[in-house]
Amino acid sequence: MQYSKLVKIYEELEATTKRLEHTYTISEFLKNANIEDLSATILLLEGRIFPRWDEREVGIASKMIIKAISLASGMPKEKITAEWKKTGDLGTVTYNLIKKKRQFTLESYEITVKKVIENLRGLAAIEGQGSVDKKIQLVAELLTSAKPDEAKYIVRTILNDMRIGIGEGTIRDSIVWAFFGDELKIAYNQEEKIIEVDDRQKYNKYMDAVQRAFDIMNDFAPVAEAAKKSGMKGLEEMEMSIGVPLKVMLALKVESIEEGFERCGKPAEFEFKYDGMRMQIHKNGSKIGIFTRRLENVTAQFPEVVECAKNCIEEKKFIIDAEAVGYSKKTGKYLPFQSISQRIKRKYGIEKMAEQYPVETNVFDIINYNGRSVINKPFIERKEMLKKMIKNVPKKIVLATSIVAEDKKEVQDFYKEAVDSGNEGLMIKKLDAPYKPGARVGFMCKLKATKENLDLVIVKAEWGEGKRSKWITSYTLACMHEKNFLEIGKASTGLKEKREMGLSFAEITELLKPLIKKEEGKEITLKPKIVVEIAYEEIQKSPTYSSGYALRFPRIVRLRDDLGADDISTLKMVEDFYNKQKK
Ligand code: AMP
Repeated sequence: MQYSKLVKIYEELEATTKRLEHTYTISEFLKNANIEDLSATILLLEGRIFPRWDEREVGIASKMIIKAISLASGMPKEKITAEWKKTGDLGTVTYNLIKKKRQFTLESYEITVKKVIENLRGLAAIEGQGSVDKKIQLVAELLTSAKPDEAKYIVRTILNDMRIGIGEGTIRDSIVWAFFGDELKIAYNQEEKIIEVDDRQKYNKYMDAVQRAFDIMNDFAPVAEAAKKSGMKGLEEMEMSIGVPLKVMLALKVESIEEGFERCGKPAEFEFKYDGMRMQIHKNGSKIGIFTRRLENVTAQFPEVVECAKNCIEEKKFIIDAEAVGYSKKTGKYLPFQSISQRIKRKYGIEKMAEQYPVETNVFDIINYNGRSVINKPFIERKEMLKKMIKNVPKKIVLATSIVAEDKKEVQDFYKEAVDSGNEGLMIKKLDAPYKPGARVGFMCKLKATKENLDLVIVKAEWGEGKRSKWITSYTLACMHEKNFLEIGKASTGLKEKREMGLSFAEITELLKPLIKKEEGKEITLKPKIVVEIAYEEIQKSPTYSSGYALRFPRIVRLRDDLGADDISTLKMVEDFYNKQKK
């Protein structure tokens, strides 16, 4: 398929923010795509080059792109940078420059969707000495052979800044409309922008089937292929594979032990809620894979966990779910999450880090046993399997500390024990529930001791003044509402001038700099990527921010590099906390 066809779709999508219109446009496009093009098309529609679970990255910053645009267009870098600061979008800058250049040249090549993916993937493979120059050269070549509108979207794809706003829900719905639309008699009224469906129940069943397949594969490309090739049967037959992470099951918040029982039934299992980092551990013979809650591959960063998975568990094939908790070598006591968070993105000095900030792996669930999915078995059976597999080796790998109880007093004592030994509270698990990847359905609940903090993304910021002028020091925070980021406050305290346990100004400045989209004086607009946990005194109603709420005395507690912008607190959560606090 020609890339220009996809570019037309990008333009149509960009022209509206209406989700149903997006769904219709994408579904028509997918319906008509060849099966060989489906995978690349879906990835590019999502603005991706690799599937979510793939750890490869193109590794190109805005500065490198500017050099490539300069090579392709003949325009000096300084001019491109100035244009970029004005518009905040390198894609549009590229479009204008390539268009100007094309007036003087005649050459024009047809590039295909596959070619774009191949070339962009090629960038990730370039390593070692001189790799920066080689990457710039390759991007420049691609831009030179592209038409202006194609160049615009290639640049946006590389920068991971599509500006179209296609969420997972839209892609899921588009797959249903594209491949089951006739069967479900889906009629989309373009004029009134409404859909009519013959049988809602059946429609929902198909939605669930696509969602389930996606939660297991963590990639829409094979899901769309299966739907197109083999319909519902194809979706139902999709199986997880060891080595490819699947979404983790999420926890619902409860306020009391009684509410926990209401959700999970009596008796229920209660476990310590460790303040660590979620780890999905895959083992296939001697191959081990470790993934975070966001499914980032952190195998290299946790050699001691790899060693444990290899040598402390005899089973050769499995996927288990666990929480890795940092502990002090001196006292043996658990340390808060910050102590190990710096290990997640480490590329160098990993062994030393592992020495300094070791983790204990607390296993609490199993997803695959011996190559077979066990997610449909009841929790209690999965737990029995784990008990046979995991021989507790303290400070290395252990089963999460737990009780099965139906007596409130017993749970109260256990809760106290959990908090006294440095944990956040308790997790409550429904004994007869399956494991639902990606879902927050109350099969597992959390009961925390402290007031709930918010996880917010930084959308804007300001350069500091005087002594702090080299740092970005004030951060505008946003929560999520239907894929939009709504501002809720500004924070600048909670950070240190030097790094101790927490985050320093210098460190956060380094994290934010590559994300700058626009600068006007001191004011900076950022790509929403960096998530921070925010503590506050109170949530207030306020017309100042687009969310309609403001935080009193917001304070940065820690960087949540285990969360992405999709995982942040929603407006609904803010409203719930607001209402609870009123009570
Ligand atoms: P929260 O991050 O506050 O939504 O709490 C849910 C998280 O608690 C999970 O994603 C895990 O990372 C973590 N956790 C700690 N201990 C457990 C446990 N025993 N079972 C399940 N999750 C746990």
